Amino acid sequence: MLCNKFISWIPLFFSLPTINNSIEDYQNRELLSLKIALDKEFIFLETLNYDYAVWDDTYNYMADFDAEYVDSNFVGDTFYSLKIDGVFIYDMNFNMVYGQAYDYIKHIEFDAPDLDLQVNKLNRTIIPNSKASEDDNSLRHSGFLQTEDGPVMFASHVIKRTDKTGEPVGSIVFIKKVRTSLIKSLAEIAQVELSYSKIEHASSLNNIVTLKGSLQGEDIATQRKRVILDVNGNPLLALNIKHHHQTLPVLFDHYLKLILLMFFVMSLLGFYIVNRYFIEPLINGASAINSMLVKNDLQPLRFTNQFLEMRVLISGFNALIKQVKEQNFKLEKISKIDGLTQIYNRRAFDEIIAAQWGQAQQQKSTFAVILLDVDHFKNYNDFYGHQGGDTALQLLADKLKQIAKLNTGTVARYGGEEFILFFKQLSYEEFVNISQQLLLAVKELNLPHEASPVREYLTISAGCVFATKETVASGNISTQLLIKEADEMLYEAKNSGRNKALTKAY
Ligand code: GH3
Ligand code: MG
Ligand code: MG
Repeated sequence: MLCNKFISWIPLFFSLPTINNSIEDYQNRELLSLKIALDKEFIFLETLNYDYAVWDDTYNYMADFDAEYVDSNFVGDTFYSLKIDGVFIYDMNFNMVYGQAYDYIKHIEFDAPDLDLQVNKLNRTIIPNSKASEDDNSLRHSGFLQTEDGPVMFASHVIKRTDKTGEPVGSIVFIKKVRTSLIKSLAEIAQVELSYSKIEHASSLNNIVTLKGSLQGEDIATQRKRVILDVNGNPLLALNIKHHHQTLPVLFDHYLKLILLMFFVMSLLGFYIVNRYFIEPLINGASAINSMLVKNDLQPLRFTNQFLEMRVLISGFNALIKQVKEQNFKLEKISKIDGLTQIYNRRAFDEIIAAQWGQAQQQKSTFAVILLDVDHFKNYNDFYGHQGGDTALQLLADKLKQIAKLNTGTVARYGGEEFILFFKQLSYEEFVNISQQLLLAVKELNLPHEASPVREYLTISAGCVFATKETVASGNISTQLLIKEADEMLYEAKNSGRNKALTKAY
């Protein structure tokens, strides 16, 4: 239904200018008909008036004022049959020589003081200005006049002989009241609805448009007002005209408004849905990802969504995060664990020892470091091959790991065939004991080393440094210093025959 309405609206939209023009034409014609109808009323009144004005009897009356003339010509029936409401005869000095106001509908006489042109000099304008020239137009006049009884139409003519000769001797004026019946007949002829109102105060009109028989530049409209002026140019009557061909097809009728409203509501709804289910989650997701990047902490997205596509996107992202986290974990492990021996590498060790050193200082713990090196390992490689050397390093690392674990210590490959360990919370004796355990454990490994001048099995040398809890807490030493001292002790152990652990205490 609405859809059909909308479709029918489209051609209407394009034909509207044409429709507009034809309605304008109609309304122009209606106004023209109204004007012509009114003019005809005047022509009718003027014709009657002419018959009496250009007549020997009237002309003679102006010479002798014989009562016989008025008695026989202006009786009640005369007014009724002529459908006029008054006859007034003036001499050349505006003196009324005869005057009769008679309501031909009500059949009663009435006073017409406005027609006394000696008193109402302004109203002398109803008399034709016969002196101006002698053409027909100057002999007659017509128009509207305001009277005590309301607006009247008048027609006047200079009195002449029947053969139109004779010096001007006066004028004869006919009046006819403006009645509802007149307005009704005008409306019927013009095919418009018509009503009128008397204008009491001309100043109440802000825009005076007189009746001229056209729109006079106005737009097409349902109703319009036309003002009728009296003979002196003052607004007298307001005609309220209601056109028959009055309305344009309404472009924005309630159906179309409903359609537009629906469009509007649907757009809002669409905007809400897109915003609520797509844009908002995307913004939230983007800001969550941003904050992950800032914190360097990848986390799965926690929210879910009603739309499959968004759910696929979220779960895809979360799967990616999981994968990245696993890979990160592997990478971190790879970056910390030595590939050959599967114990911490030196980089990881540096981080761990720094952290543990800080803790040891707070906990007021002892701190001990062992740096050890395989004896004559170059020879070992040379004798057993590089792979043999690798295996030996793996076995040695396993052993070191066990001992470290037993004593809550940490072990790492420090480089090549060098290893480092550190311990907290040990007494000096416990620590020395551990260093000896190391040598013993390597002995128990019993890896044959035929190329060693020290023993027939693989041996190690170790440099050990022990710091008491007081020294640790004092802040006078550092792990770098401890490692450097351990290295020096190792050097001494090497120089003094190898296969030994030398310890220094602070
Ligand atoms: P010293 O008793 O004075 O320590 O003598 P050394 O031969 O052990 O010392 P040197 O520094 O001369 O030689 C160390 C050797 O360790 C040389 C190098 O080939 C070997 N090496 C270092 N890393 C690896 C490794 O990952 N695998 C193997 N197989 N050998 C390694
Ligand atoms: Mg070495
Ligand atoms: Mg060595």
